[in-house]
Amino acid sequence: MQSNYKNIIENAYNLTKPLKDLGKLATYIPELANVNPNKFGVHMTHIDGTHYGIGDNQEKFSIQSIAKVLSLTLAVKFIGEKIWTRVDVEPSGTKFDSLLLLETYNGIPRNPFVNSGAIVICDILLTHLEHAREEFLEFVRDLSDIPDLTYSDNIADSEKATGFRNVALCNFIKSLGNIKNKPEDVLDFYFDMCSLEMNCQQLSHTFAFLINGGRKLNNGKKIISRSQAKRINALMLTCGFYDESGEFAFKVGLPGKSGVGGGIVAVYPNNFTIAVWSPKLNPNGNSFKGMKLLEDITTHSEMSIF
Ligand code: GLN
Repeated sequence: MQSNYKNIIENAYNLTKPLKDLGKLATYIPELANVNPNKFGVHMTHIDGTHYGIGDNQEKFSIQSIAKVLSLTLAVKFIGEKIWTRVDVEPSGTKFDSLLLLETYNGIPRNPFVNSGAIVICDILLTHLEHAREEFLEFVRDLSDIPDLTYSDNIADSEKATGFRNVALCNFIKSLGNIKNKPEDVLDFYFDMCSLEMNCQQLSHTFAFLINGGRKLNNGKKIISRSQAKRINALMLTCGFYDESGEFAFKVGLPGKSGVGGGIVAVYPNNFTIAVWSPKLNPNGNSFKGMKLLEDITTHSEMSIF
């Protein structure tokens, strides 16, 4: 695989680029509506340290929900198994911002990747870390090797001004007893966490610990245990794409995570990570062309875990 992955990516990129994009920009966060909808880039990082990208793969974009994997990783690293009493590990079968199942399950979100689950993870981090906002940023700086990474105030403020559904989610969970801090503090942290920006190369580099038994690829530094990495990958496979998680496993066959900024990162343990960015989203809030590109890559290669 190693020798020809560049050709496979290049071919898939060239095939996908001219497709009629049936997706739409995420306009509910006003700042995301200002992005050029035709951007399209992809970057793969191989376990042997080589990497390859094409298209707009060096341009930063808002990673949004992809950051939920990183906040979960920090929670798993510092707080361990007890987080699973506060959030479950089941696919939700609902939209990413749904309130629907919270009442049924007493305020326990179905998984850490729907908004409700990521909000509870932010609450857990706020309780257990002295300076959660700063410590999370430091953690991602180290993982990504981007020492000057910062939260994007433009994006966070834009979402704070319009994120009424997340406000509702956080207050609803609080009323059910599963938010311990002030909802305003939890939401501020959540919006900051979602505001991080990276390019495809940086994103594929950042996620490389998940293909390398929980250790960074470039220096071997242990981030989480092998077993914890396995569990996060399992959650990405079953819950990474909300009510389209089954479809992504079916068509692409890799654990992955999407964000409403149009990014997707997918991982093949012991092989590679791949990050793709195309801002127009399908009705489930996942990048339309990003899904197509990854489907093409794994269909025309042996690059799926199945
Ligand atoms: N910040 C976004 C929200 O809470 C993240 C959603 C996403 O990327 N799916 O709505």
